[in-house]
Amino acid sequence: MTGNQKLPLIIEILEKLVSINTVSDNSNLPFIDFVRSYLEKNNIQSKIYYNREGDKANLLASVGPATGRGIILSAHTDVVPVKDQSWSSDPFKLSQREDRFYARGTADMKCFIAVALAYLPILSASPLLRPVHLALTFDEELGCLGVPLLIDEMKKQLDPGQTVIVGEPTNMKVADVHNGAQSFETVIQGLEAHSSKPHLGCSAIFVAAKLVNFLNSLAGDLKQDVSLCKELYPPFSSINVGSIEGGTASNIIPGKCRFSWGVRSIPESDESAVPSSFGKLASGLEREMKKIDEHCSIKTERLGRIPALNRQKNNNSRDLCLELLDDNSFIAIPFGTEGGYFQKAGYSTVICGPGSIEQAHKPNEFISLSQVIKCSEFFMRLVNKVLN
Ligand SMILES: [Zn+2]
Repeated sequence: MTGNQKLPLIIEILEKLVSINTVSDNSNLPFIDFVRSYLEKNNIQSKIYYNREGDKANLLASVGPATGRGIILSAHTDVVPVKDQSWSSDPFKLSQREDRFYARGTADMKCFIAVALAYLPILSASPLLRPVHLALTFDEELGCLGVPLLIDEMKKQLDPGQTVIVGEPTNMKVADVHNGAQSFETVIQGLEAHSSKPHLGCSAIFVAAKLVNFLNSLAGDLKQDVSLCKELYPPFSSINVGSIEGGTASNIIPGKCRFSWGVRSIPESDESAVPSSFGKLASGLEREMKKIDEHCSIKTERLGRIPALNRQKNNNSRDLCLELLDDNSFIAIPFGTEGGYFQKAGYSTVICGPGSIEQAHKPNEFISLSQVIKCSEFFMRLVNKVLN
């Protein structure tokens, strides 16, 4: 069997997967239902775990022995929006032009799911040396909201020491390190007054400015702390204030200001350091504001969190993937993934999937035929490796 033989099935599945619009605003249940019924037809049972609202779900399907150190194939089901992007063809219809397949989610990351679905039936039909699991999540693109819930379930059900392959697009290179990321929104409630009477008001914008300026100076400090991982670029943690809004007019002391901000942390850094020094400054400022009016406040909410993936000396997943790819080099990637959560749960984890992050999130996202074949060959070797 060669990687090419499964190609028609992979493309057929991919065509179906991209046709289900899983932009994070939408429910992913139609996608989960399709995967569940496809697996059911192939005698593979899935467990579905819904979010609190019941409109989104994670899926876990397992083949092979009930216990043992398995291989977890991990992917997220959601995709980023196509709004305001100029596409040459319908983003939710797979369109082949030359050696490329275009549609939203082809690279990030429905092709990996399509390949996994094409190979799982072979695994379920034969005795295996170790279990293989498919783990699909919701709302990764909103800050990895679904994966912590699924990992909680996995820790209850699966033996420790699982090997995780997160199929985010790496051009089928093995990545074992990436930065962490966190995003926040800070809302400042001041006190409105006529601008001729500054003693009667409390400017939410001046307070916001102090906080934003503090983040800017912290960002400067972070540049001194360079990562040991030479491949990460830039090699230091960074901070961004992404949006800010507040106030009404130049003659009104503004009562409200909000801004969104984020931190990207190098793997070996303490990811709580920036939020905690920000929090200290904010509580000091809030105390001062409350002396003017007790209703004044500064509230910060964490919107999303992606733990860093640390390069580990021993990593079973890295060893396995390098062997299957007949490769001996591994890389760092600049973007966050669910991999950090799996590693925190004690599973050895790498990121390895078809397609390029260069195409992800952009109009005319595509996966090249050669990447589909490479991923298919990877799965073929994986099958041979676990067959008893
Ligand atoms: Zn992704």
